[in-house]
Amino acid sequence: MNGGNSLRTPIIIANWKMYKTRAEAASFCDAFLPLIADNNDVDAVICAPFTQLDVLQNRLSASNVAYGAQNFYPVAEGAFTGEVSLPMLQELGVQYVIVGHSERRELFKEDNALVQQKVKAAYTAGIQPILCVGERLDQREAGETIAHCAGQMLSAMEGLSEAELLTLIVAYEPIWAIGTGKTATAADAQEVISALRSAVAEKYGNTVADAVRFQYGGSVKPENIAELMAQPDIDGALVGGASLKPDSFAQLVNYQK
Ligand code: PEP
Repeated sequence: MNGGNSLRTPIIIANWKMYKTRAEAASFCDAFLPLIADNNDVDAVICAPFTQLDVLQNRLSASNVAYGAQNFYPVAEGAFTGEVSLPMLQELGVQYVIVGHSERRELFKEDNALVQQKVKAAYTAGIQPILCVGERLDQREAGETIAHCAGQMLSAMEGLSEAELLTLIVAYEPIWAIGTGKTATAADAQEVISALRSAVAEKYGNTVADAVRFQYGGSVKPENIAELMAQPDIDGALVGGASLKPDSFAQLVNYQK
């Protein structure tokens, strides 16, 4: 069974963070592709470090798996030591990019204003942003989860056209569940994502709200994916740890089988 509305194609995204050499990325693809080759029901995406993007371009171009980056700086070129631009990602055929991941917000001090600028810039460059939102444990305990996540999401959506809004992907990732082994229950994830979808409906109408794909992220693994994806508002998963091994990521992409 698909999760969510059958009009929304499920989307499972690997976030490899700062893992893998180029050789490891290549051997992952060689092992992974045969495992999901007959799966055309789910959009599968791998978001890798910059150094692996040309490896993914070579290995995945003829497959049904897309690839993306995990970051960029939203200026075409200039004196920004250490940064990578969207034209540089376009040159590598990148189709997706993660924006606003909690690790970038917390460790690299990316704020809502920069996240908003990055979402718009990615769309303008024709690269699909994956917008991440999520609360800290203290915010959850204070009952601020929905207000905080909706605030992050709506601020990042400012200035988008209707056509852009219709393709948006939002990953709800409670910070306390990322890389900790603690997963939000499927019911908790559904409750937050349903509230986020309602916030989109209130501001942009039902057509946009019904089209936006919401993912859950935070210790997703083969054992819990089916229950998460069975929730009516959960359309996919953004996966760190369990995306690093080909068989485990394939089980996630093949959750319907
Ligand atoms: C993530 O990196 O976005 C993530 C959810 O990580 P993990 O699956 O390891 O919790």
